[in-house]
Amino acid sequence: MKKDEIEDVKKELDKKEPQEIIKYALSNYKKIAIAFSGAEDVALIDLATKVDKDVKVFTLDTGRLNPETYDFIDRVRDSYSLNLETYSPDTEAVQKLVNAKGLFSFYQDGHKECCGIRKVEPLKRALSKLDAWITGQRKDSNPSTRNALPAIQRDPGRRELIKFNPMANWTLNQIWGYIMENRVPHNKLHDMGYVSIGCAPCTRPILPGQHEREGRWWWESGDKRECGLHLTEYK
Ligand code: SF4
Repeated sequence: MKKDEIEDVKKELDKKEPQEIIKYALSNYKKIAIAFSGAEDVALIDLATKVDKDVKVFTLDTGRLNPETYDFIDRVRDSYSLNLETYSPDTEAVQKLVNAKGLFSFYQDGHKECCGIRKVEPLKRALSKLDAWITGQRKDSNPSTRNALPAIQRDPGRRELIKFNPMANWTLNQIWGYIMENRVPHNKLHDMGYVSIGCAPCTRPILPGQHEREGRWWWESGDKRECGLHLTEYK
């Protein structure tokens, strides 16, 4: 799709509800899949399986997720009879990092190197098979980096790919309203005060009044902390 065509579609889709955006995405792209993080973006899966029960979904198993997240991913797979593909990190790259720096190097020199190996490279492999992908990103999940998030964009880092963000305009409260109302399965970590959920050593519960991103990589400064999966130069 050319840039001006995307702009026209974006104007329309930005006004639509998530399910209409999902319908557009699935009817216009065959090589397309949903990225599932194992957290509240399960609402996206619930909506998408109502459009196409065989929709492709992939998830990244970093090897460092909480047991509750592994349990949740399997419950979601079973509940929706999901067509789910799991991508693991490259063994040699993980061994090289761990042998050189130990299992918790991110507390000393930042999360970018470990996320690069455990998340970004497996994501590249997953996306190499696709023409488009669908994410559960929301504007309100990180106002510092996502406040201009459109419903459709050319992926800023992978320009040949189209990226759909059907939940962009929904708030966290809307997501939870949907999960409760529709009895959608949820990660049990949410019942323990976790909001934004990633890997076990890099995620913690938050206190009342804290923003959800404050539970991620809390030892690093700045409010633009991201794992590198979603590049933020929005088109
Ligand atoms: S979130 Fe933490 S453990 Fe997971 S890949 Fe990133 S740095 Fe590594």
